[in-house]
Amino acid sequence: MTTVKIGIVGCGGRMGQALVGAVLDNDSATLSGGTERQGSPHMGKPLRHPVTGLETPLTVTEDAEELFRISDVVIDFTCPTATVLHAGYAAQHKTIHIAGTTGMTPDEEKALQAAAAKTPVVYASNFSLGVNLLFHLTRQAARLLDEDFDIEILEMHHRHKVDAPSGTALSLGKAAAEGRGVDLETVADKVRDGITGERTRGDIGFATLRGGNVAGEHTVSFNAYDERIELTHKAGDRAIFARGAVKAALWATTQDPGLYDMFDVLGLPKD
Ligand code: NAD
Repeated sequence: MTTVKIGIVGCGGRMGQALVGAVLDNDSATLSGGTERQGSPHMGKPLRHPVTGLETPLTVTEDAEELFRISDVVIDFTCPTATVLHAGYAAQHKTIHIAGTTGMTPDEEKALQAAAAKTPVVYASNFSLGVNLLFHLTRQAARLLDEDFDIEILEMHHRHKVDAPSGTALSLGKAAAEGRGVDLETVADKVRDGITGERTRGDIGFATLRGGNVAGEHTVSFNAYDERIELTHKAGDRAIFARGAVKAALWATTQDPGLYDMFDVLGLPKD
């Protein structure tokens, strides 16, 4: 059976290690290698399964361009500057790029759009099935409930997370704003401190918690007088994102060049 050759950039990271495990666990995929940044403690070490400890004959390198050259797909959960660099290699070698890095600026996202002109690119703030369903339900609920229901988005992640609100929380805000037919940027309230004044009707509020090793929890609440609806997703393990990214990688091998998201991969409705 022909398998899809999948490489992992940032393979020593929390998600990188989960991705190595998800590729090794998938019979339709073969691990083609892994890279890390210069100076990483993982450099030169064997790539191994994060749960079973099973060692592969591959070692961690810093040559991302070579990994893009030899792979059918490269999965990238690193940091924005690295993902911009990787998108260039994806375009150059026409390698499928699965990008899960969050905190990208609109300028940085242009690199993914440019790569998508040459090869399939799947870019999503969250690769889990459950959270993508939550995006859909949030849009629907926001469409059905008027501004008597104040929308608030609460997220919690582990203490090492560097961006806030999470990419997923922002996508949930976008889904709610789309449901209401408004632009998120005009209604988002991301920071509250001191004498803030009363809540503005129609705003979409965000709150961020950080601590411990929480893989990711998101709640969208719709708050009216005397009643509240809450839609919640709790990730028990980051393996769910890794399995979703491998699913996206296999799906993308049958697609034309273009920029896709997990709604495309999962066949969820976009309206
Ligand atoms: P992490 O810091 O544990 O891992 C990032 C890894 O990338 C590190 O090992 C780092 O050394 C490596 N790296 C940095 N620059 C590199 C380069 N130039 N070449 C190769 N490797 C490089 O972080 P994490 O918790 O694994 O998260 C990584 C990213 O994925 C974050 O942006 C996070 O928000 C995002 N994330 C997305 C999803 C999703 O479903 N889309 C889920 C979880 C995390």
